[in-house]
Amino acid sequence: MRRLSVAFLSLSLAALAAEPTSAGPLRGYTAAHSASEVQWEQKFRAIPDAGRLRENMRRLAARPHHVGSPYDKDNAEWLLAQLKSYGLDAKIEQFEALFPTPKSRTLELLGTTKFIAKLEEPTLAVDSTSGQKSEQLPSYNAYSRDGDVTAPLVYVNYGAPADYEQLATMGVSVKGAIVIARYGQTWRGIKPKLAAQHGAIGCLIYSDPKDDGYARGEAYPDGPMRPSDGVQRGSVMDMPVYPGDPQTPGIGAKPGAKLIPLDQVQTITKIPVMPISYADARPFLLALGGQTVPDAWRGGLPITYKTGPSKVMAHLKLAFNWDRKPLYNVVATIPGETFPDQWVIRGNHHDGWVNGAGDPVSGASPELEEARALGDLLKQGWKPQRTILYCFWDGEEPALLGSTEWAEFHADELKQHAVAYFNSDGNGRGFFRAEGAHSLEAFINSVVKDIEDPETKMSVWKRAHLAGLLRPSPDAPADSRNRADTRIGALGSGSDYTVFIDHLGVPSVNLGFGGEDEGGGQYHSIYDDFYWYTHFQDTEFAYGKALAQTAGTMMLRMADADVIPYQFTNQADTIHNYVTEVKKLADTMHTQIKDRNTNLAEGAYTAAADPKKTSIPPPVEPVPPYFNFAPLDQASDDLTAAAAAYEKAFTAYASSGKSGVNVDLLQIEHTLTDSAGLPNRPWFQNMVYAPGFYTGYGVKTLPAVREAIEQKEWAIVDAQIVRTAAAIEREVESLKSATKTFSGT
Ligand SMILES: [Zn+2]
Repeated sequence: MRRLSVAFLSLSLAALAAEPTSAGPLRGYTAAHSASEVQWEQKFRAIPDAGRLRENMRRLAARPHHVGSPYDKDNAEWLLAQLKSYGLDAKIEQFEALFPTPKSRTLELLGTTKFIAKLEEPTLAVDSTSGQKSEQLPSYNAYSRDGDVTAPLVYVNYGAPADYEQLATMGVSVKGAIVIARYGQTWRGIKPKLAAQHGAIGCLIYSDPKDDGYARGEAYPDGPMRPSDGVQRGSVMDMPVYPGDPQTPGIGAKPGAKLIPLDQVQTITKIPVMPISYADARPFLLALGGQTVPDAWRGGLPITYKTGPSKVMAHLKLAFNWDRKPLYNVVATIPGETFPDQWVIRGNHHDGWVNGAGDPVSGASPELEEARALGDLLKQGWKPQRTILYCFWDGEEPALLGSTEWAEFHADELKQHAVAYFNSDGNGRGFFRAEGAHSLEAFINSVVKDIEDPETKMSVWKRAHLAGLLRPSPDAPADSRNRADTRIGALGSGSDYTVFIDHLGVPSVNLGFGGEDEGGGQYHSIYDDFYWYTHFQDTEFAYGKALAQTAGTMMLRMADADVIPYQFTNQADTIHNYVTEVKKLADTMHTQIKDRNTNLAEGAYTAAADPKKTSIPPPVEPVPPYFNFAPLDQASDDLTAAAAAYEKAFTAYASSGKSGVNVDLLQIEHTLTDSAGLPNRPWFQNMVYAPGFYTGYGVKTLPAVREAIEQKEWAIVDAQIVRTAAAIEREVESLKSATKTFSGT
């Protein structure tokens, strides 16, 4: 679901130390077991086949396969048959969820020269599946409310919080207006949410050519980028409140589940919202009056971008079928030999917005190859110590429906049994990327050192590491240069890992390759199909094969280990950085507000403004108090000490071949959850990782504290510091107890 970009080369700056090549046994393995494991892993990696990956994609992307469509069910049944043919025990687990589809869509610009938006992506002769009109979902934003609004237009750039602050200083209000925002920067669902909070009555979201069209590369079908009539579909449900079926939060929705009435659902938008192409957007943008926008707000169209309001009115009318649809999750299980109650889980969704070759089949197809390869290993005599689950989720695109309902349904078991969840969602050419729980950071590093980059032939770890030296990122502060493991970024939301890490506290990772193709060019359009993918993306399926090798090796190595190879010194180091960040954030905001108030008192804003333009100084704000960060500092220090002690004891224990401690280890990461959840969104229970309330996909670490500060809710900050520190202290206790068991005292 989440769109690929170079920005998520999260594996970046890293140690300059030479890359170890099989130096010493694998973490969590005895020396003898490590040697046999390495052999099984090598056998495994020889199996995934690029030709099969291509044929999997041809089959799965042959027809539109959104939730509730005939081919969505057909694909689920085909996946089931494939998994069974590999000798695996597989089944379909069915759930259901609210999934609105368009009944009618109208958008027009009123006035003397009336313009009616086309709202249609044309068939292209070279691209045969682009003509499957009768099965395609029209372009729309799922979970927009019904509505019929007529109002002037205002351009709000990306529709992010800072954009509204900018508009306020220019004296432009969106009250009673229809806003037109461009795609990008924030997750799309944030755009109508903020527009409604600022008083707008409708919202249009268009794809500007600067962001994913001709300004980035040649337009389709000559190149990979979005053509003038291309539209990005997508969900606008308020998923930062909770994802999954809007009518059954926290409950796995089997048919007959008790439903929240539609008019009481919190996560449906407050105003009607619709996505459009830039061909359709252009007349609306040209109708805008008002001031010329700031530089950063200009898109790639050859027009003068203005804020509005428009003199003529826009008319937006939307109606949807509010139906509940079946979800078909396909789940294959390989029972564990030694620890059957410890589950290692792999997932990728199988539903698409339309044909969905890039999103999700480029990830689902390698996942299926992994399952085939594991079936092969079983026939050769391999037996995993832990139980392995291969999941193909339905309904990810609308709202992470299939994975959320499944995990909510199995919540108690997952809290007891889940060791780790490995997610992918679409794949492309380029660099390895991973984001996830930092207790798995060392593990991820160890695996990707053993995977060969198909084009450069160096290890994918080395390639990401060396490239990262040239591209520092916020996830990789300069100290990583001297660190044994490359840092991974934290997880926000945007794919099926959300329920695992954010709701249940299961250590989760999202992984894939990308950055060397324009994966976003046809994102959620009818042109994200087999023709487009095989002409402009990972055309040889070389990186599809690398994904199967990488994710599959992670599954094997995690499932076979004698002791679960979690590692907490990296996590402690990262959490220490987060604590430093939130303290700095509070400091910065304190200083900024104080300085701004002084500037206001001295008349600086009035003096700096162009007297002939509207310019409204920001309001005077109360200076925030100083907060007591001591509990967080203490918890972070305690975690650092406990993680170091654990590490020392772990090494001796694991190499001795003892494994009785595993069950305790399963609970460690879970201690970071708090059943009361985050302020205003109890479904999100992880106190370290969450998607931002106003970013949607973008992560907020230590979210209860960070967001209270960012949102200037000064009164609750100290209490959130205490709650977050308590979660970390629970982990400290849990680590201490595991350390004791290791040491046998
Ligand atoms: Zn996806």
